[in-house]
Amino acid sequence: MEKMYEIIREIKENQNIIVAGHIMPDGDCISSVLSLSIALERLGKQVLSIVDYDIPYQYSQLEEVARIRKVDDVINSIDSCDLIIVLDSSSPDRVGKLQDFLSSKKTIVIDHHITNENFGDLNWVDDSFSSAAQMIYRLNRSMNVTYDSKLATINLMGIATDTGFFRYPNTTSEVFKDAYELSLLGGNIWFISQMILENNKPERLKLFAHVIENMEFSNEGRFVHSVIKYEDFQRFNCTEEDSSGFVSDLRAIRGVEVAVLVIEYPKEQVHVSMRSKNSFDVSKIAKMLGGGGHPRAAGCSFKDSKVEEVREIVVKEISKILKDLKVIDEER
Ligand code: AMP
Ligand code: MN
Ligand code: MN
Repeated sequence: MEKMYEIIREIKENQNIIVAGHIMPDGDCISSVLSLSIALERLGKQVLSIVDYDIPYQYSQLEEVARIRKVDDVINSIDSCDLIIVLDSSSPDRVGKLQDFLSSKKTIVIDHHITNENFGDLNWVDDSFSSAAQMIYRLNRSMNVTYDSKLATINLMGIATDTGFFRYPNTTSEVFKDAYELSLLGGNIWFISQMILENNKPERLKLFAHVIENMEFSNEGRFVHSVIKYEDFQRFNCTEEDSSGFVSDLRAIRGVEVAVLVIEYPKEQVHVSMRSKNSFDVSKIAKMLGGGGHPRAAGCSFKDSKVEEVREIVVKEISKILKDLKVIDEER
């Protein structure tokens, strides 16, 4: 926690602060950016909140989401900031166009990805935390930030989403402790779950039916993969954000150890989402292919690529490792 106290000292010395999250933002990213931004404002700082990407529609029920800006919209204000705090991002390319400013400004990185490249001037990276939001909760409490139910709900959201609503192996007793404290402070888990889980668009479910239609199994049913092409998004009147969560549903299939969803959005920009259940480390494959993530949830992205070619490369790598793992298990 020594790093956390260094960060507190750094925050005290700066007045104009950028708080940034990653592209293709998820619940943890949005929660962390908002929780730290609100907290710093309560401490009297000027804060610019940046995520250089569209925010998925589900989160619009949080009015605070409106404060999050893309780089182009605030380009003139960036120069007057003294400090950039990057959250939940394992490498500098994850912050979109803000990446161009990281070398000229003092940068702090707060993250829980094992694949983090420690690209800040000061890095608090600890993969024992469930989420960046849990780290922000500890940081805010240490800075004596006042919590009301709004901040508690926003902060709880990242812990909830990154633990799969308290189901994944990262749901430690520390997670329950912090979540319990946030619920005592007014955090409302039902508000969060109805906003994210009970807010499905019919178009999205039709897109998921298409994903199920396109499932392919290999390695005796231990590996499932599927694909969504750009044309499919258009046909079902969906965007990339509508595909979030599908890969976890693929992993939930009986007997599946690894699930992969290959997404093309927009044309020839390909993102690969990977999930594993018990033993397969998908972060290693993601890192090898230029991405990153966690052992059980990772991803990588390719520009100017053919979706079927990417699928073939990823499937080949994963099948091979799964096959070798099986041989090792059988010889044991
Ligand atoms: P996703 O499958 O997109 O939900 O991502 C799963 C995890 O992998 C998240 O923790 C992401 O932060 C990480 N991740 C996804 N895509 C990338 C990427 N292109 N580079 C680095 N990390 C990624
Ligand atoms: Mn994230
Ligand atoms: Mn996270």
